[in-house]
Amino acid sequence: MPVSAIIHGEHVSRFTHYASRMLLSASMPQINKDAPYLIGIDIGGTKLAVVVADRHGQVIQKVRRPTEAMRGPDAVVRMLCEMSRDVMALASVSTEEVAGIGVSCGGPLDTSTGIVYSPPNLPDWEAVPLKAWLEEELQLAAYIENDANAGALAEWLFGAGRGYQTLVYMTMSTGIGGGLILDGRLFRGPGDVAGEVGHMTIVADGPKCGCGKYGCLEALCSGPSIARRARELLQTEPASFMLKLTDGNSDLVTAKTVMDAARQDDPAALRIVNETARYMAIGLGNIVNILNPQIIIIGTILVKAHDLLLAPIRDYLRRETWERVYDMVQIVPAELGDAVGDLAAIAVIQQKLAG
Ligand SMILES: [Zn+2]
Repeated sequence: MPVSAIIHGEHVSRFTHYASRMLLSASMPQINKDAPYLIGIDIGGTKLAVVVADRHGQVIQKVRRPTEAMRGPDAVVRMLCEMSRDVMALASVSTEEVAGIGVSCGGPLDTSTGIVYSPPNLPDWEAVPLKAWLEEELQLAAYIENDANAGALAEWLFGAGRGYQTLVYMTMSTGIGGGLILDGRLFRGPGDVAGEVGHMTIVADGPKCGCGKYGCLEALCSGPSIARRARELLQTEPASFMLKLTDGNSDLVTAKTVMDAARQDDPAALRIVNETARYMAIGLGNIVNILNPQIIIIGTILVKAHDLLLAPIRDYLRRETWERVYDMVQIVPAELGDAVGDLAAIAVIQQKLAG
């Protein structure tokens, strides 16, 4: 291959990445393993949170602000730096007392370079060098992780996954994401993409998913997907209690409407719940057979509707798995609830201190 081909396109950007990293690493702040405090930054599409916590994950101070993503990445990162200084002042903690910064942010992103690549909730963040900007501005070592992986670390270190070595964490809300802890380590894959459990195909030629594929778990069992299946069923079930709950307007049916009506023994809602459990079990069965996890921790919808979903999921799961792996795995709701965002960011830095 001629040299000109090598230094063009992707090759040149990779080369400059590595070169700039080597230059930066010489002068960039290092993690301070003896320091008693941690900073966690949770970057959501609508809200930003910065917390100071101790080494046990106990949050001491927190500052929140709207993301205002439309102002662009420079403004948002500047705001995060201000918030970090504010929260340290509120907690009376100096830079020297902070071990480093953990950041939980929507992916795709590159954990080794610390660059964020246009997450769906931050559309203008095209190749934002988040780690480098934070480190330069705050003079603290920073580590970034996608929010699902950071959530997996949080449930593992501080929540339902404490003490386990092999676990799968799944978010189940507007989308379905996931993170894998395998043999005591977060498994990211070489492109930081591993754990995308929401996009395994459950129904060939099923409903279209936001990712472009058809029949993904997310296209069947996310909150909006559960609501969509319910609305489709309501076209032939006009007497359903779901319509009573929404004053006859099927457009207002949400996953919560389905669960509320199912608790009143509404047959149509129970059918949607049963179907949701079956699709979830097919997905979980694939995961269980491939990874042999000790525990699968599922957030939001399973937390709110475990009384309805957990038993049928387990029943269907038995059909989808081999007995030996079925007997080994627990399926549980996530424990951290609304605290998961703060603790996810803290878990990112906590894990670096342990490693
Ligand atoms: Zn998909």
